[in-house]
Amino acid sequence: MPQEFWKTQGICANDAYVHMMLTDQKIDIFFEDAYREDAKRLCSVCPVVETCLSAGLKRIPRSEYRESSFDVPVGIWGGQTQRERRKFLKNLDKQIAEFQERLHLQLPDASDPNAA
Ligand code: SF4
Repeated sequence: MPQEFWKTQGICANDAYVHMMLTDQKIDIFFEDAYREDAKRLCSVCPVVETCLSAGLKRIPRSEYRESSFDVPVGIWGGQTQRERRKFLKNLDKQIAEFQERLHLQLPDASDPNAA
């Protein structure tokens, strides 16, 4: 099985289906702003949407999504634009930090001999 077999199962891998949606078959709707909503509609019924989004998120190095110059990977992945994926990761970072803070506040201080 190829490393990313799921890609062959995506709707965007099915040229006939994608081309049904287009008047100009040379346009890749997953990389054109003018077709963003069309691409998202396809993603919304794609059987591998979760895997695709996960793969798109994993391709964003943490050092890059925090930068305003962030520029990879482009296109729609799992129904989300580049900007939406970056925002998703930033929110996730914030939620993890808040969770860690709450967890830290609830843990007894290991250096305190009176701590339960
Ligand atoms: S979720 Fe969208 S971009 Fe991803 S494989 Fe499916 S159709 Fe293609």
